Amino acid sequence: MADSVLEILHNTFGYESFRGFQKEVINTVIQGLDALVLMPTGGGKSLCYQVPALALAGTTVVVSPLIALMEDQISSLKQLGIRAESLNSGTPYPEQQRIEQELLTGHLDLLYVAPERLLTESMQRLLDQVKLALFAIDEAHCVSQWGHDFRPEYLQLCRLKHRYPGIPRIALTATADRRTRKEIAERLELDNARVFVDSFNRSNIFYRISQKKQGKQQLLRFLQKEHPEDSGIVYCLSRKRVEDTAHWLNEQGRLALPYHAGMSNEERSRNQQRFLKEDGLIIVATVAFGMGIDKPDVRFVAHLDLPKSIEAYYQETGRAGRDGLPATAWMVYGLQDVVLLRQIQSGSKASPEIQRVEQQKLDAMLSLCEVTSCRRQVLLNYFDEPMDEKCGHCDLCLEPVDTWDGTEAARKALSCVYRTGQLFGVSHLVDVLMGKETAKVCQFNHQHTSTYGIGKDYKQTEWRSIYRQLVARGYINVDIEGHGSLKLNERCRPLLKGDERILLRQDRYEHATTKSTQPVEKGRVLVADEDKPLWDALRTLRREMAEKQGVPAYIIFNDKTLFEMLRHKPCDLEAMSQISGVGQYKLEQYGQQFVELISQALAYHD
Ligand code: ADP
Ligand code: ZN
Repeated sequence: MADSVLEILHNTFGYESFRGFQKEVINTVIQGLDALVLMPTGGGKSLCYQVPALALAGTTVVVSPLIALMEDQISSLKQLGIRAESLNSGTPYPEQQRIEQELLTGHLDLLYVAPERLLTESMQRLLDQVKLALFAIDEAHCVSQWGHDFRPEYLQLCRLKHRYPGIPRIALTATADRRTRKEIAERLELDNARVFVDSFNRSNIFYRISQKKQGKQQLLRFLQKEHPEDSGIVYCLSRKRVEDTAHWLNEQGRLALPYHAGMSNEERSRNQQRFLKEDGLIIVATVAFGMGIDKPDVRFVAHLDLPKSIEAYYQETGRAGRDGLPATAWMVYGLQDVVLLRQIQSGSKASPEIQRVEQQKLDAMLSLCEVTSCRRQVLLNYFDEPMDEKCGHCDLCLEPVDTWDGTEAARKALSCVYRTGQLFGVSHLVDVLMGKETAKVCQFNHQHTSTYGIGKDYKQTEWRSIYRQLVARGYINVDIEGHGSLKLNERCRPLLKGDERILLRQDRYEHATTKSTQPVEKGRVLVADEDKPLWDALRTLRREMAEKQGVPAYIIFNDKTLFEMLRHKPCDLEAMSQISGVGQYKLEQYGQQFVELISQALAYHD
């Protein structure tokens, strides 16, 4: 072993101490044992194999599903003076030969490869001649057929165990539910692996979910108020909505680029690169975007449409605030989202069993939306990590929702479904309740049903809210064959018979419209006014250095490290070396210039 792991952490990475289970994980693999590591996004999974890669003799092979991800990691590693390369389908032949040579002569600490490449015969023959230290299987949930990122090639990775029996394997993922966890261990044959499960709480993320009512306008207000200059991701369900929203945001003066599977590869990769490299850019995307985006300073993730499961929601929102600084997960949703998702699900060719699981997942997502207590409690509970106290850092903790006894209203809503034959969607049902003489009402003679006009004491939006909550809580099913018509579920019987009462939530369309006096900008990074000039200067210097090398700014120093500089104002190299995230290599490369900048700023102040 060349250096102790703590020395590697200090000298190479510039960090003070290990986080969470990092140290235990590292010791496990260094002893030659297998490990399965579950840590939330931003938890620090990479160090769990990068430190052993430096501590152990030989090369660590990292299996990673996406080329973009590998390239990002390799630029970061090279900035730390670490010898890392990747072999993928895009590697030019001469480059490939050079890398293979370095590999054979023992000059690589880390080699990143895609799974399909790793398992080719030629690659395996190459590896047979190499001194191997460790296999790291990143994004290990890709092995799960139930999950959202299934990659069939991952199933073959169990072969590594048989071909390289003495080499330890470490599998890592941020997907935590028990089923996936079990599946990873089984499919990768990690029978004797030590399992490390970190807390999945992302304490720096502020969660907010509101009812959708002119979603784009709501989004714009949120951006203007809380993230006027920040980078972030906006997720939409369809390509068309992605295009529309990106276009519209640009018209409103925010730089936004689209990203979806219908675009050409070049276009997508260009937009992705700009997102990584430019400050304050917004990417509007379908779920096709994100896996492998390690950009640490994504300050918000906004959902204009409902994700199909809590896993997906957590994974997507988890892309915010990887650097540990404050970030916001914001979402608006409405009944229409539920109808649309059910339509997509029932239109898929999946087996009834899979469809049932998907339905359960959507239901769990809906209960997160409709909950009246703390969002984080619901989220963590879903991942088997019950939290006793409310978090104090979500919309519901800061501005508790009011509930009201909706029993009578719910009964009216349900009987209107029944009296009109369970054949109609929400809009028509609301018209009937409110006694509107629309063409459709006349066509079906609904002005003569017993529920016609019995709901005049509520507004249209209120009735829609009542229906949405009844659907979300499983009293009503949405019939997809019948184009979104509502049907009664068995569950509504006690409510109709008067044996059960129901509390409904008072909808909120905007935050902070109520009496709350709490500050709402919880997801914002705040720089004191007097520090603003230095902060801007530090960012400018960082950007210039990044542009010279054609890498994203955060690869030079991430926001967190820059923040530390702002706080401690190191005026010599010794002080600079104490800043978290400044290792030896970066100190030599960039330390002097940053020290000079800070000294000048202080001199100017005095
Ligand atoms: P993950 O892969 O789990 O999403 P990363 O490995 O990218 O997370 O780590 C997230 C951030 O935290 C990175 O900027 C990383 O350098 C930083 N980090 C990881 N471990 C430590 C540590 N022990 N001390 C300080 N920063 C750390
Ligand atoms: Zn909370």
